[in-house]
Amino acid sequence: MAITVRTFEKLGDAASAVMSDRGARFLAGGTLVMRAINEGDVAITTIVRTSDPALTQIRTAGARIELGAGVTMAQILANRDLAFLHPAARIVGGPAVRNMATVGGNLFAHAPYGDFTAALLALGATVSVSGGYSASDTPLDEFLSARDRGGTRGLVASVTLARPAAPDAFRFRKVSRVKPKGIAVLSIAALLPVAGGRIAGARVAYNGLSPAPMRARGVERALEGRSLDEAGIAPAIAACAEGISPSDDAIASAWYRREILPVHLKRLLLGQA
Ligand SMILES: Cc1cc2nc3c(=O)[nH]c(=O)nc-3n(C[C@H](O)[C@H](O)[C@H](O)COP(=O)(O)OP(=O)(O)OC[C@H]3O[C@@H](n4cnc5c(N)ncnc54)[C@H](O)[C@@H]3O)c2cc1C
Repeated sequence: MAITVRTFEKLGDAASAVMSDRGARFLAGGTLVMRAINEGDVAITTIVRTSDPALTQIRTAGARIELGAGVTMAQILANRDLAFLHPAARIVGGPAVRNMATVGGNLFAHAPYGDFTAALLALGATVSVSGGYSASDTPLDEFLSARDRGGTRGLVASVTLARPAAPDAFRFRKVSRVKPKGIAVLSIAALLPVAGGRIAGARVAYNGLSPAPMRARGVERALEGRSLDEAGIAPAIAACAEGISPSDDAIASAWYRREILPVHLKRLLLGQA
């Protein structure tokens, strides 16, 4: 079936085109959209693109960082100011995928994908949308809930996050069977601010343990006021499975995911390889 390709100069016009046509899909890097088309997804009748430069901007001045939705994993890896994000960007597919895969596309990538989104969730990112859902910044947790209810409309323009106060305050770990670019068995991202030797305001997120990236709120609660040593993290490790609903799939069984989660969470919190 023929597919119409529509290209717009402005993101807002592209958003209107997507919202007014049920068969339209926005094309970012295309690593998932083009795969769907090639596999014969007949629901896609129109591809919408935009050349709006706003989508590929990276702003790193100051404590707030803004990433245009069209920024690729390769662009993040090429930016020294974004070094704290490199562990999360580096594990998205292989080099060819990373050259195309965008931040915005990752927000819509369904399980088992969404590793970079888990990192953004732990970093407390907000999402700015052009058209539809909300123009103002929406916390990523809320954005993902709306996405899963089918309530996300319009196009993501950018994500904004705070730079971690210390280089070691943000940690990311992906477990996969084929290294380095295999699909995640699970991923863990953790923002671990320390004040006076104690954790204050931890944010921990998982990918691969539920239908969408999720906050590990039990772990966050258990870490509050604790030190990052074996005894201090013990309650967090005990709480690590709270709220997860891992699936059995070709990558791993739910049982296996539950078994290895405490092992990898412990290594991440203790800063072990
Ligand atoms: C071989 C391979 C390996 C992969 N490995 C990983 C991995 O390890 N980890 C991982 O997380 N992902 C992985 N992916 C999935 C994918 O490459 C990434 O999730 C990527 O970030 C998706 O971005 P994209 O720009 O290619 O999305 P696209 O394919 O362009 O779009 C994906 C979806 O998002 C929508 N979309 C894109 N941008 C916007 C926007 N700005 N606003 C609104 N909607 C938008 C599109 O309409 C579409 O529905 C892999 C994919 C492949 C093919």
